[in-house]
Amino acid sequence: MSTPYARPVARVFTAAQTQEGAGFHVNRPFPTRMMMDFDPFLLLDEMGPMQVAPGDAKGAPDHPHRGFETVTYLLAGEMEHRDSQGHAGKLTPGDVQWMTAGAGVIHSEMPSQAFQQRGGVMHGFQLWVNLPRTDKMMTPRYQELPAAGIPSATSEDGKVSVRVIAGEALGTRAAIETRTPILYQHFTLQPQGALDHSVPADFNVFAYVIDGEGQFGADATPAKTHQMVVFGEAGEAGERVTVRNDSDKPLSFLLIGGKPLGEPVARYGPFVMNTESEIRQAILDFQAGRMGRIPASGTTD
Ligand code: MN
Repeated sequence: MSTPYARPVARVFTAAQTQEGAGFHVNRPFPTRMMMDFDPFLLLDEMGPMQVAPGDAKGAPDHPHRGFETVTYLLAGEMEHRDSQGHAGKLTPGDVQWMTAGAGVIHSEMPSQAFQQRGGVMHGFQLWVNLPRTDKMMTPRYQELPAAGIPSATSEDGKVSVRVIAGEALGTRAAIETRTPILYQHFTLQPQGALDHSVPADFNVFAYVIDGEGQFGADATPAKTHQMVVFGEAGEAGERVTVRNDSDKPLSFLLIGGKPLGEPVARYGPFVMNTESEIRQAILDFQAGRMGRIPASGTTD
């Protein structure tokens, strides 16, 4: 299956375990000391998977963002979000929210009241996608896709299936519009399934294993649950990504890639700009209330 043009794997490492928001557990492949960012991506968090007792669910209360996008993909559980523009909504399993913070939003990301009361399994992902200099101060926008609205496809042999959140896979195009060229795809390979996937030669590409184990890249490098697989660098490493599942269980992973921005990154918590003075301005704008406030409570149901 492998040809000289398939990308090799450059690195495999296990996500760090940490806490976020009000204290929920995340597996974080980056940023960590292992890897600060992965241009054009700034962060990937896997929330859970964890069993949450009734009344114990934690979230991320009101906080700002400026200069990038947050992409939330929920696999289990139920989340609610509210923001300073009066936008509110709910995420259920399989749903995607692609939030372009641009010039700034303040939002909360919390378990829904119903989930809070009954508990259950919480599992999901948040990816931070950097915005180019020209888009950092754009008007905030949301793209929200219910699970049923996410294009999906299955290979002819039935062994490879994909949910196409961004980009194109198995001949199926995403419904999301991205500011810069991005791919974000959730693949499942059945035992003996093999993927041979075209990716643009100038993309940085990685896989993150959600569940199972597989053989990645031209050298069939093994990786398993909670591991990040970095494919060879864009530009020099070819335009195909290959993955096999030689195990006897399904393999589920995210395949994420994008054209690097190649711009300076000035980063301070929830603000990601190009320069330190732009960061200082973001802090001033936030403190002065120029990113707005979340309207006082009410139900989002
Ligand atoms: Mn947030």
